[in-house]
This record gives sequence, structure tokens and C-alpha cells, in this order.
Amino acid sequence: MYDSDIIVIGAGPAGLSAAIRARRVRTYNLLSSSVMIISNSSPGGLADWTKVRMTGDGWSYEKGEVIRRLMADVEDYSIPVKRERALKVVKNDGKFTVITDRGEYTSLAVVVATGMRMTWNEGEHFGEGLFGTLKGYRFMEDYFKSLCEKERGKTIVFVGTGEMDKTVDFFEEINQGRMKVKKVLDTGKNIRGYKDGVVVTDEGEVTADHTLIDFESYMLSTYTGDIIDCDKDEHNFIKAEKRGKVFDGLFAAGDITGTPFSLAKAVGGGTTAGLESYRYVYREKFGKKAPVFAFYPIHHQGSATYFDIPKLKDDYRPKLLVKPITKEGKIIFRECELDENEFNNKLLGLCDGNHTLKQIRSELGDIDPTIERLIHAKDLTLEV
Ligand SMILES: Cc1cc2nc3c(=O)[nH]c(=O)nc-3n(C[C@H](O)[C@H](O)[C@H](O)COP(=O)(O)OP(=O)(O)OC[C@H]3O[C@@H](n4cnc5c(N)ncnc54)[C@H](O)[C@@H]3O)c2cc1C
Repeated sequence: MYDSDIIVIGAGPAGLSAAIRARRVRTYNLLSSSVMIISNSSPGGLADWTKVRMTGDGWSYEKGEVIRRLMADVEDYSIPVKRERALKVVKNDGKFTVITDRGEYTSLAVVVATGMRMTWNEGEHFGEGLFGTLKGYRFMEDYFKSLCEKERGKTIVFVGTGEMDKTVDFFEEINQGRMKVKKVLDTGKNIRGYKDGVVVTDEGEVTADHTLIDFESYMLSTYTGDIIDCDKDEHNFIKAEKRGKVFDGLFAAGDITGTPFSLAKAVGGGTTAGLESYRYVYREKFGKKAPVFAFYPIHHQGSATYFDIPKLKDDYRPKLLVKPITKEGKIIFRECELDENEFNNKLLGLCDGNHTLKQIRSELGDIDPTIERLIHAKDLTLEV
């Protein structure tokens, strides 16, 4: 038994894309998987702070829009989002355990999409006293020059990793004592958020007139991959193969896989890691390939694979993936509905991922037609 087929850590564009693609399979007769997202802050990641461009101005989104669109699917497919911080991921006997600041969750696969730094509530303040090293040092030089002149006597706090002195030294050369400088070392464990002119950390509040998030330092040394022991590059970013695989069952996508740091790469990498984690889990559960038609060819063994849902074996544990609503004597799911009666109510109550088909059959008798209907409607999965 485990909590979810797939656990996605991080709810930026990479994590949300991965979760949606792992859950939302549309191929005829293909079984959905259970997916859970773990995110330390409300969904959005870095892509929620300003207007963002996918490729250029022709394909861009106003602040908040990308995440609103992704969250519409997350909600439509009832993908649970746990507001927790993942502390460690370990694999034992083919199963992963994700240890968080609130508890532990188990799964068959994990997608790590933790970005280059933890985000909190920066989106609410970005551009208003809160800024970041953006557009390169030539731009930053001009920005620092005008800031030091305009804000003489005021305080600036730099937030970054152990590499932030490179930017702080650069600032000090321009500053020449005009602004007071403070530093907050982000260890990945100590920051709790921002309010007007205040960085909230576990050690207390750091007050300043301006806060500068030193992205340069995060790009030089991230901590967000520390939750898992695996191959990393010289800047501590996770080394993933082209389809997002890190090792069996572990996938990574988006900024945590290193340069380039981009929205399009995060969405593309998340989509790939989501589909690949789905295929991995399917193989683990049923011992055969899931031909996710249109994304992968189905002639992989010479002739087309004729595909049907798995035989309903006694030891499979059905799990409902959505919470239906009841209305006028009907139990309504995304794409199918059942009559509201004692049998269906009991059956749905037992489809919790804990009871086996055998146990439910012994209590209720012939449940297979209803189970199959829910599988075809992508509202139920079989855990193993
Ligand atoms: C101001 C700004 C403007 C940008 N503009 C553009 C643009 O126009 N075009 C473009 O292509 N790119 C742009 N980017 C970059 C783009 O936003 C990122 O490349 C993209 O958001 C990366 O997505 P991600 O999902 O990999 O990571 P993120 O968006 O960083 O999301 C990762 C999430 O995982 C969470 N997390 C981390 N560790 C844990 C943990 N242990 N447990 C739980 N959750 C965790 C983080 O808090 C975060 O919310 C911009 C970035 C910024 C800051």
C-alpha cells in the first residue's frame, strides 16, 4: 500500500505540468494514475511574480495567468495539493517515502520540480521594494547606480545563497557607503516569507527599505535538490536524462535540472516527466507498457498494441480520484454518473486505496461493471 502512484514535489509550472500530464490520460481504455502534489507555498513558483513570456511577446501571459490556467486542470482533475515542505525523499524496496515538515507520504514514483529556490509570497510584493538580480550585471549596474543615489542613507537587504557575496561586492563597489547593506543567507530552511520591507526568517525579522533576491547566487548554488541523494552538477542541480529520468522511478523537471531557467523548458520538462512517471508506474503495477497513444507510438512491438484496461485482479486496490457531487438522486463524476443508492454509496466508500477488490467483492458482490465504468471515465485507478 502507498499514498499515491506518483508524488510531485513543487507546484511551479514544471510540477503542475507534470502532475496534470501524469493524471490526465485521455487514451481510450487507459487507466488513470493517482497523483499528489507537495508544495511549500501556494502554487505558482517563480512564474507567478510578473508577466512571463513563453517564447516572446507574441506568446506571453499576464501576471498569475499561467498558474491560473494550470490550476484549472489541477482542480478539474481533483489532484490533491499538500501545503507542506518536502525535507527528504528516500527509496526502499521499490517505493519512495517523501518526508515533509508535517508527515510522510509513500509512492511508486516521484517527480522533483523544486525550482532553483523556495518561493513564499514574493509575487505579492515583487517590484514594490522587492526586486531581484535580473537582465544581467550591465542592467544591474545601472539599477544599483540610480538606487544608491536615490536611496542614500536607506537600507538594502540581499537574500541569496552562499554565493551572494559576488553580487554584494559588485553592489558595494557602486554603493561606496551610501546605502546600508544587510545580508540574509537562504539555507533553504530558514525563510518564511516577505512583508512590506521585512524578510521573515526563523531567526527573526530583517527590516530594510529594499530587498534584493540574488538569483545569480541561486543559479550558482541551489539547495532545492538537497532533498534527494542523486547525481548533481557542479552547481547542485539534478542531472536528469532527456526524458526527465534521474533513476528508476525518480524524475526531475524544470529549473532544478539546471540551465536554461525558462518557463517553456519547465512546462515541456514537466509534461515529459509527468508522462514518463505515468509509464513507469504503469509498468510497475501491471508489468506491461502503457501505450499512451499520440504521445508514444503503439507499434512498439511490430504490430499495434490492442489495448484494454487491466483485468480486475483480486489484490488490486481501487481508489477514487475525484470527489463526486450528489444531485437529484445521482452521484455525478467528471464524465459519468451513478444512481445514488446504498450499493453505490458503500462501493464508493470502499474505493479508498486501502480495500482490495476481493474484500469489496466479498462485501458487495458483483462490483466489476461499476468499477470498469469509473475506470473508463478516468475517475478511478487501481493501486497495487
Ligand atoms: C521575475 C521573473 C520573471 C520571469 N520571466 C520569465 C519569462 O518571461 N520567460 C521565461 O521563460 N522564464 C521566466 N522566468 C523564469 C521562470 O519563471 C522559471 O524558469 C520557471 O518558473 C521555473 O519553473 P519550475 O516549476 O521549474 O520552478 P519554480 O517556478 O521555481 O517552482 C518550484 C516550486 O517548488 C517549490 N519547492 C521548492 N523546494 C520545495 C520543497 N522542498 N518542498 C515543497 N516545495 C518546494 C518552490 O517553493 C516553488 O514554488 C522568470 C522568473 C522570474 C523570477
